[in-house]
Amino acid sequence: MEQGINIGKLFGIQFRLHYGWFIIFGLVSVFLATQVFPDTLDNATNLQLWIMGICTSLLFFASVIVHELAHSLVGKANGMKVKSITLFIFGGAANMSEEAETAGSEFKMALAGPAASLGLSGIFYVLYINLNGQSPELAIMNYWLAQINLILAVFNLIPGFPLDGGRILRAVFWQTTKDLAKSTRISTIAGQIFGYLFILAGVFILIRTQDWLSGIWLGLLGWYLSDTARNSFRQYTLQQILKRVTPVEVVASDIPRAKSTQIFADYLTQTPNGDYILVEDENGLAGIINQHSLKNKDNLKSTLAELYTPINEIPVIPSDTNALDIARRMNEDKIEIVRLASEDTRVSFITLDSLIAYMNKASEKGFTDA
Ligand SMILES: [Zn+2]
Repeated sequence: MEQGINIGKLFGIQFRLHYGWFIIFGLVSVFLATQVFPDTLDNATNLQLWIMGICTSLLFFASVIVHELAHSLVGKANGMKVKSITLFIFGGAANMSEEAETAGSEFKMALAGPAASLGLSGIFYVLYINLNGQSPELAIMNYWLAQINLILAVFNLIPGFPLDGGRILRAVFWQTTKDLAKSTRISTIAGQIFGYLFILAGVFILIRTQDWLSGIWLGLLGWYLSDTARNSFRQYTLQQILKRVTPVEVVASDIPRAKSTQIFADYLTQTPNGDYILVEDENGLAGIINQHSLKNKDNLKSTLAELYTPINEIPVIPSDTNALDIARRMNEDKIEIVRLASEDTRVSFITLDSLIAYMNKASEKGFTDA
């Protein structure tokens, strides 16, 4: 999820490119330069075809950015925080730090992306009409871009969660039933059904037409759709569970303690397991050490006193936070440990591992109950 390169900021939103994007960018350029454009342009040189392919490919990805930006700006207008947008292999994904609070805002936000793609498709089509007589090269580029944006709009409107169409479906059910959980269940099931239909269609094409490429491509798309639908329901259920969990339930209870005068290497030979060490000096608890960040030769001869992070430098979370907010905070701030605020002198920590351990337990239990 987090792999990628920052490419810049627009409207306060950080844009990132996933590494897989480069592969797709290359494939689209090759496909356009060698398959699509030569068919209609007889006199074009290879260099011309390649320049056209790369430019069109760039404009296609700009279109994906516009689609995601439309979601994000409508989301922001409805009071949601959008930190970043990552462009993936299958288009893009906006990283929202929270879900929509009302069915109405979810509906508007979900609709914004396909609406933007439809608008772009229209603009490229008008350009195509106007350029057709003058420049066949620019005309064919605009024609392809009109087509791909239309496909993008239609594909995203498939009513299966987590696609935009599935979000629209969820918003409609949510508005009428006032039951978000049930609406999520229905729209993710719809996502799975559409996924299976795609797989069936792929198999059908394979058998009937022997068109392997289309058959396999449709099948893969269907598998991807049903898989993400299933996962997003699991994710939703897990979020609902975590929302009800208090921080005390996810505290890391078994962090070993050690004296600050101890040498790190000696500590490791005595207690080789565990990720963290609580370091005590004559005044009591002084700091904490994350072993993984320190296991290099230079640190082995140091005393624990030289290595620990003072307790008061660990981010503090209020005791009325729920486990879901803690997980989000850790993810956003890229931290692996937080300290739980308490009124007495007790000091307790929540680590990424203690949170994950709880989530694993909850998902086993929660999903069999659900
Ligand atoms: Zn979208």
